Amino acid sequence: MRGSDHASHRSPANPNGREVRPDLVVCGLGPAGRALAHRAVARGLTVTVLDPAPERRWTATYAAWADELPDWLAPEVVAATVSQPLAWGTRAHRLDRPYVVLDTARLQTSLHLSDAHVVADRAVDIAPERVTTASGATITGGRVIDARGLARSPARAEQTAYGVIVDAGRCAGLDPLFMDWRPDNGAAPGTPPSFLYAVPLDDERMLLEETCLAGRPALTGAQLRARLRHRLGARGIRLTGDEPVEHVRFPVQGGRPGPRAFGAAGGFLHPATGYSVGAALAAADAMAAGQNVWPATARGVHRLRSAGLRALLALPPEDLPLFFDTFLTLPPAAQRAYLSGRTDLAGTVTAMSSLFAALPGRLRRRVAVATLGFRFAREVEGLRP
Ligand SMILES: Cc1cc2nc3c(=O)[nH]c(=O)nc-3n(C[C@H](O)[C@H](O)[C@H](O)COP(=O)(O)OP(=O)(O)OC[C@H]3O[C@@H](n4cnc5c(N)ncnc54)[C@H](O)[C@@H]3O)c2cc1C
Repeated sequence: MRGSDHASHRSPANPNGREVRPDLVVCGLGPAGRALAHRAVARGLTVTVLDPAPERRWTATYAAWADELPDWLAPEVVAATVSQPLAWGTRAHRLDRPYVVLDTARLQTSLHLSDAHVVADRAVDIAPERVTTASGATITGGRVIDARGLARSPARAEQTAYGVIVDAGRCAGLDPLFMDWRPDNGAAPGTPPSFLYAVPLDDERMLLEETCLAGRPALTGAQLRARLRHRLGARGIRLTGDEPVEHVRFPVQGGRPGPRAFGAAGGFLHPATGYSVGAALAAADAMAAGQNVWPATARGVHRLRSAGLRALLALPPEDLPLFFDTFLTLPPAAQRAYLSGRTDLAGTVTAMSSLFAALPGRLRRRVAVATLGFRFAREVEGLRP
């Protein structure tokens, strides 16, 4: 058994006292790095993990589509399931796809690292088989994987949200909401839009979160808090100010698909939705096995999803509810392909082209310009140069 080793950066020794070069070195112990290290150990690999705060307890509320989760994940990690979440653009859509909210503490504990060599340090230089740390140590291994997440930058669009955790009894009549774009949050016309996300954390508590899907810059926590209070007030839910709060802010751009990075750092974050945890858990086994998790189809999907983000950023704020109405009216298989089909290039193309065809003309033009470029968009639209 091995565990945390905060005092030494040396690799563990074998019975002859010689240092063992691990099969895998994972830099970063967020959900992605931890899942990768955990699954690599389960395969019998020797693993060293590196994080400045390896024991830090996660606090974010993670959720995913139930069908994204791998079979090996302990069932008790699921805290709540919404079998048919509701989504609102300008009208209601019932999604026939179970959505799960994870128990963050149980998720972290279940991805245990008891047989990995844990180093408390910061990676400063990562090469394919070597990592140099802030304390000056060098760790070598058969493969070094960057799972350090994404750094914030003004050049990167971000997702932001402000949430409160409320007794479920005070939310009577409020259905779990995947997204609700109705305009009862007090936002001034023409300002960046936000939606309400409402999910159960267990039988007794709900997370109610006003969310800016993507912005550059994104809405601030203070703006989202004011909107959340306004919206909940309009729906008869008064906040006392004592509710536990969740602050969300993370970049949705900047991941690099490839064999040496994983999780948000490795392009697993869907730039147009902000989800990555389900995809990282699903790919952890293949990544641990050294398989190619970025076939040409996945790289194509990544480019299309990035185009999807550009479209979102380019749409007039007041048109986003209509855009999502159109998306949520697509056949369920197309919605699923766009949201979760990380390697499903054909499905993603079908979903995006169906969405494009179904959009009202003025939105179609905006989306075409944002995703394809101005000249090509004119050709697609059949306009004269
Ligand atoms: C509050 C919140 C809620 C979210 N909810 C969801 C959700 O419901 N579903 C979903 O799919 N996504 C969600 N996300 C978005 C995204 O999936 C998460 O950001 C997720 O944590 C990304 O996982 P990751 O392991 O790739 O990176 P991170 O979680 O960012 O982990 C990176 C790790 O690397 C470590 N690290 C950083 N620098 C170094 C270094 N130099 N050397 C070594 N280690 C380093 C950090 O300490 C950290 O432990 C949410 C994000 C936030 C902030």
